[in-house]
Amino acid sequence: MRAVAVFPTEKKVSLIDDHPEPALESPTSVKLKVLEVGICGTDREICTFEYGEAPPQSPYFVLGHESFCEVIEVGSGVQQIKPGDLAVLSVRRPCPEMCPACRVGRQDFCYTGDFKERGIKKLHGFMTELIVEDQQYVYTVPRELREIAVLTEPLTVTEKAFDQLSTVRERMPWHDRASNSSTRNALILGAGPVGLLAAMKMVLEGFNTFVYSLGKGDAAKEKIMKDIGVTFIPAEDVKASDVLSPCGGHVDVVIEALGAATVSFEVLQALEQNAIFIFTGVPGRKAPIPFDLSDLMKELVLKNQLVFGTVNAGPAHFRSSIADLERFNVRFPQAVRGLITARIAMEQFAGPIDQPVGIKNVIQVN
Ligand SMILES: [Zn+2]
Ligand SMILES: [Zn+2]
Repeated sequence: MRAVAVFPTEKKVSLIDDHPEPALESPTSVKLKVLEVGICGTDREICTFEYGEAPPQSPYFVLGHESFCEVIEVGSGVQQIKPGDLAVLSVRRPCPEMCPACRVGRQDFCYTGDFKERGIKKLHGFMTELIVEDQQYVYTVPRELREIAVLTEPLTVTEKAFDQLSTVRERMPWHDRASNSSTRNALILGAGPVGLLAAMKMVLEGFNTFVYSLGKGDAAKEKIMKDIGVTFIPAEDVKASDVLSPCGGHVDVVIEALGAATVSFEVLQALEQNAIFIFTGVPGRKAPIPFDLSDLMKELVLKNQLVFGTVNAGPAHFRSSIADLERFNVRFPQAVRGLITARIAMEQFAGPIDQPVGIKNVIQVN
């Protein structure tokens, strides 16, 4: 079969045509035809060999972790999934030690770090014609999401962040009662696919939502933000340390989807009482950044601020991501489709990896 293969030792990425076709492995296996695979920053870092690990005994691994597939065959023990269903797959698999998190299916919180990830770490990914997976990692998708279901995995980042946000907001027992809009301001840092999906989610959840990012004059992004009803704050015009004033002077929650440390910490330092700052981005390797840590520590304490990082997602987040895509599809049909800038044949995979265009680039596999 054809596959986009990463050879970490040889430091090359190429389209191969001899990747073996998988067969059902157990009564609970599901065989799927891959339709589309989204490309993100993680794939670009893998293709510059910053990370990524092949399965043992294999010189390569198949790239791709943002899947959208059609079921073609199921094992005898599979009841909820049938051939013809559309589906997406989760990415992370449990560690061999079966740590307390992995034991309950929450390998997104794995303690050991020995988890595997399809298309990233020790498992083949999805940029190939056919794949087989156990039913527990397969999530069926309604037909009306056909054009946007490939966004499920990137949206799970925000779904997990939002789930944790809901839990930590319990520390302020009045927060639900204080539902007048001035008390619910969300600021998203970054207007890439994760940031714009996060913006849609926060709008849906009733937050006044602001997006701070470079991209002034980017008509496609500005239209999406206008359509979903968020206020765009161009980083070209507003310094990170001044970002609160265009947000009406107050932000309850920041979702960082930028991967840039300096901007993030400048925003963090500008926040006020009880603010929650959620990191989802991974900064590239850069020289150390000087920062007044004593002042930051003082502010965090005296203002009851909360900072947390989040990665990957659990089964409930894949389900809520699909449910929210259905809501986006009704409420912002144009905007959510606008996130996918280009669909590219698998033979041309190198283009969107070297030089992505617009917002989300998707490889059409079948
Ligand atoms: Zn990704
Ligand atoms: Zn684990």
